[in-house]
Amino acid sequence: MNDRDRYTRLELRGLLNETQFQAATHLDGPLLIVAGAGSGKTRTLVHRVAWLVDQGIVPSSILLLTFARKAASEMLSRCASLVGDRAGMVNGGTFHSLANSILRRYAPKLGFSSQFGIMDQDDSETLIGRLRGEDPAHKGHAAFPKRNTIQNIFSQAVNKDTDVGRLMQSSFPHLLEFETALLRILAAYRRHKQENDLMDFDDLLVNLERLLAGDEGVRREIASRYSHILVDEYQDTNPIQARLTALLGRDHLNVTAVGDEAQSIYGFRGANFRNIMDFPDIFQGTKILTLEDNYRSHPQILAVANHLLSQARERFEKTLRANRPDGPPVKILLLDDTRDEAVTVAGSIEADLRAGLAPRDIAVLFRAGSHSFELESQLTKRRLAYSKYGGRKFLEMAHTKDYLCYLRLAVNPRDGQSLRRVLGHVDGLGPKGQEKAALWALGQEEYLSSLDQAPAYKDKARKSLSSLRDLLASICLGPLEPALVAKEVFDFYSGILPRLFPDDYPSRLQDLMEIRNMAAEAPDLVSFLADTTLDPPNTLVVGQGDVKDRNDLTLSTIHSAKGLEWPKVYVISAVEGRFPSAYVKSSQDIEEELRLMYVAVTRACDQLVVTMPLKDNWGGSPCPSRFLARLGPGLAEVFQNGRPTGTDSLSPYHGSLDFELLDEVMNSAHDLPKRAIGVQEAKIPPPRRAPGKARGKGAAPTRGEECQRPALGQRVSHPVFGPGSVVAMEGPRATIDFDQFGKKTILVQFAKLVPLSP
Ligand code: ATP
Ligand code: MG
Repeated sequence: MNDRDRYTRLELRGLLNETQFQAATHLDGPLLIVAGAGSGKTRTLVHRVAWLVDQGIVPSSILLLTFARKAASEMLSRCASLVGDRAGMVNGGTFHSLANSILRRYAPKLGFSSQFGIMDQDDSETLIGRLRGEDPAHKGHAAFPKRNTIQNIFSQAVNKDTDVGRLMQSSFPHLLEFETALLRILAAYRRHKQENDLMDFDDLLVNLERLLAGDEGVRREIASRYSHILVDEYQDTNPIQARLTALLGRDHLNVTAVGDEAQSIYGFRGANFRNIMDFPDIFQGTKILTLEDNYRSHPQILAVANHLLSQARERFEKTLRANRPDGPPVKILLLDDTRDEAVTVAGSIEADLRAGLAPRDIAVLFRAGSHSFELESQLTKRRLAYSKYGGRKFLEMAHTKDYLCYLRLAVNPRDGQSLRRVLGHVDGLGPKGQEKAALWALGQEEYLSSLDQAPAYKDKARKSLSSLRDLLASICLGPLEPALVAKEVFDFYSGILPRLFPDDYPSRLQDLMEIRNMAAEAPDLVSFLADTTLDPPNTLVVGQGDVKDRNDLTLSTIHSAKGLEWPKVYVISAVEGRFPSAYVKSSQDIEEELRLMYVAVTRACDQLVVTMPLKDNWGGSPCPSRFLARLGPGLAEVFQNGRPTGTDSLSPYHGSLDFELLDEVMNSAHDLPKRAIGVQEAKIPPPRRAPGKARGKGAAPTRGEECQRPALGQRVSHPVFGPGSVVAMEGPRATIDFDQFGKKTILVQFAKLVPLSP
């Protein structure tokens, strides 16, 4: 045994378990490590890189690929602590950074120069915006997709390995009428990039594949630079990335991939966890290792994670086995509503800090960036610094700013800045007209009841102005009751939202519901506006940097928390409609939501708290998330109003939530003709309660006024498309001729239709 062997045997044996050790010291040939969360996959990769370096493999011929550059550099710095500076020579990065470095040399073979420019997402959107403006089709079409939507469509097509037409059919059916124009813009976009020596992020991958697949000599030359390839989080690679791995590794087959198919959460962007299953077919002779022990979490947390795994339709043949001793039970907190949730979580975090946890030991995780709004506001109030990842700061979004401007006007109708902003929403009023109208209004003694009287307006603008006049008169002259004003503004503004944001109004609507709820529950509007205008502590960072770099309390979407761990984790808003999201369209989407929940709970090392607000912003009463609703006995402690409910079951709270029905609905939504359904129609239906069946404690009544089954000819209102008449009924579907949006076929069960008097 030489010195090197001794180092390896002695050092690694103490740091890894037997299987991890086997994996880390695997000699040549393909290796696949498939294992659950927290089982040490990343740790094993780090040690494998160190072992390879220590074995004398030239560090620069080792290629370590991860999902984020930061993750790669963190892994390599851990590696350096094992083998010293040599680790610094290892090639670590993402598929994109690898592509960039290779293409710098070989781009001329593809008709680019070696100095080709890279366009980031912003650059791509700006260019697409310009080409969109030049395309005749966008003129006169308020609903023509915006530049960021177009960029998203182009990018998804690449990452999902499909073409724009097919992608639109499956994922953007509501924009299909613009398909021809988008294809024109795509052609112009490609031409522009080629002529101007530019590549966007997706081009990096596409062009690297073109290069490798198009010239065997070049492929061999490049592939020979890397004697060992290691890929972390393989379940989230997309088809191009899997092919690139094969193109680079197929000569020597020294490819190690680690992943957990149950943690695949980027399917919406084209990742395909089947890449893991296909790995042994591509790399003949693959040795497959599984890691069973989980070093991260207490058995109580793992029991909940295993419960989630057991629900997956795509059966994952694994269970997480705890390596750590028992910890405290997982807590489920049933809360009245989202405000109660925010207050409770903020209070609990204060208690954690008093008890000695450092802010960096705590993370609050959520499905969507908007779910932390109320909590952000509570933390700000308590001067608790936090960093938020993977979501936007809610007060900076155009539609939330808009909403607040209406509220500001309710408090002070002479707030010129807010008035200008809301005049910007008047249909048919250009920038000059807005300014004129604002000056005219502010020059009046009182403009509220006469806003539509200003001279020189087109009819369209006058009509739109008179509805604004009605709203302002009502909220400014009526009682300054937060709930009332919040609702009136919401009703008005959500009506014009589709016109203002034609491509993504459904998700904006969700944000608005959050804010409406917050405003409605505020003690008074003046203090609400003061609270929301006060800048949060200046440490607030949104979506940037590396989560682990910071010492603050972490607020993060689950997507941005992948691969990470914290001693204490709160998973908030674990209720139907939020998690799983109301936007899921198919049973595949539901499966991805389930995997997200699995990722969320497995981030916790010592303590896991899951919160469930039992009232939503529509006044409905969502059930506990279906993923946790069927927790078996002994899996968690359930609390309500701060006290244990005495039962470990959530079944009293999910009423007659009919899981089979939900599955059926998901499948039928998936099967609907794509053109006919928009995102909004694919909502999860409110839970059905059997007649006479007692509701769970704390559950508010469901909205009584919703149409169960509208009659032909009936006038109804849809939360997004507004008023319309039912023109056909077929099974669970209704075709409604909406006054503003024309005919749409929707699933009645999802649609939250409200009957209108004829
Ligand atoms: P994820 O699927 O979430 O990415 P993972 O499988 O990559 O998880 P790691 O992050 O590598 O897991 O490890 C989880 C935790 O367990 C880390 O804190 C790691 O240091 C610890 N750990 C893993 N293996 C061992 C071991 N053999 N001895 C001690 N601690 C270990
Ligand atoms: Mg990992």
